[in-house]
Amino acid sequence: MTPITPDATGQTPHDESHALALDASDPLRRFRERFHIPKRPDGSPVTYFAGHSLGLQPKTTAAAIQRELNDWAAMGVDGHFKKETPWYSYHELLREPLARLVGAHPDEVAAMNSLTVNLHLMMVTFYRPTRDRHKIVMEDAAFPSDTYAVKSQLRYHGFDPADGMIVVKPRPGEFAIRTDDVEQLLRDRGHEIALVMLGGVNYFTGQLFDMPRIAAAAKSAGCVVGYDLAHAAGNVPVALHDWGVDFAVWCSYKYLNGGPGAVAGCFVHRDHGANADLHRFAGWWGNDPKTRFRMHLQPEFVPRPGADGWQISNPPIFSLAPVAASLALFDEAGMVALRDKSRRLTGYMCDLLDRRADGVVRIITPREPDARGCQISMLVNDHPRERLSALHAAGVVCDFREPNVLRAAPVPLYNTFHDVWRFVQALARTIQ
Ligand SMILES: *Cc1c(COP(=O)(O)O)cnc(C)c1O
Repeated sequence: MTPITPDATGQTPHDESHALALDASDPLRRFRERFHIPKRPDGSPVTYFAGHSLGLQPKTTAAAIQRELNDWAAMGVDGHFKKETPWYSYHELLREPLARLVGAHPDEVAAMNSLTVNLHLMMVTFYRPTRDRHKIVMEDAAFPSDTYAVKSQLRYHGFDPADGMIVVKPRPGEFAIRTDDVEQLLRDRGHEIALVMLGGVNYFTGQLFDMPRIAAAAKSAGCVVGYDLAHAAGNVPVALHDWGVDFAVWCSYKYLNGGPGAVAGCFVHRDHGANADLHRFAGWWGNDPKTRFRMHLQPEFVPRPGADGWQISNPPIFSLAPVAASLALFDEAGMVALRDKSRRLTGYMCDLLDRRADGVVRIITPREPDARGCQISMLVNDHPRERLSALHAAGVVCDFREPNVLRAAPVPLYNTFHDVWRFVQALARTIQ
């Protein structure tokens, strides 16, 4: 990030022209054109900072769905075995791009189901509690769906969630959870802990956890480690295989721009993928394709090796097609370049907020760029709802979480430095 100091002309570089200059030199600027940007009533584009909630639609999405609709109309059941993109193996098209995105071998990932469903399926296999080692570690505050899933798994195994859940919290007066504190917990109580299940990036504060360090600490305490990458996939670089993570799950409609309710992702480390003895909920799509179509002649489930062996049903093609189309953009842009721009966007946003909106908001996302992704969360000191309405009226789309947190995520694929400038400008205006 270029330091913000007056330039040779004496102009203060946090003005609009500086934002426009940053956009002009952005190597990824052409990608914005590849997305549909929602419009304001006057036809101008909104400032869309809600990619952490629902990413925007790539312009290639409609054609990707239409192609499969056309094939269905033209071929009926034969579409399963058509020449290009046969439906019986359609999910395999997503394997390599997904593997690149989360740092996995292609056989370690599968596009299937939705996120919370995958989290349950993974816990069926990887949460195998004993009386002495049955606790599950989560972060404060975890996304409610994850908390419900974990509590229901604890109850399912006969444990009381009040006793079975260990919630790691920030220290008093702080907003981020310290890695040291997670490590300390695992040293002190690791023997009681069956599973460490954290978000890669926390949905509320935007904190990016030190996933490799936490995974290493969890493993050395003998715990299973799983990450929910809902806010991390497509947002920050991830290396699940090398970090030794046992399993991970994520959704595809946030930073991955796969569309509402898009098919989610799942990672199973190679250490487990070939183990046919692991408990799992089985279905025919997880069965070895060599025998899958022997149907009732094959009553014994033979899991396909790798993450594919956790699939249950044949996948929804019309919800997979948009994910495949969107992943192609990630391959084209590359996570390294995206991350670089993302760090500059959030750095610029924090600088501007400090200069223009100090007193109105307090940033709770870590200042350290390695400890955050695209999202900046801020406490709004007063009148949060009024300020949010004023932002909406100014064409800014961001969101609000009770009681007083504003979340805004400049996304490197389609947001600009000028978007950031407009956001802070609109927020600063709510002061008057
Ligand atoms: C978005 C999100 C969810 C949503 O779950 P679905 O099963 O996709 O509805 C769950 N957990 C986390 C951490 C999320 O960010």
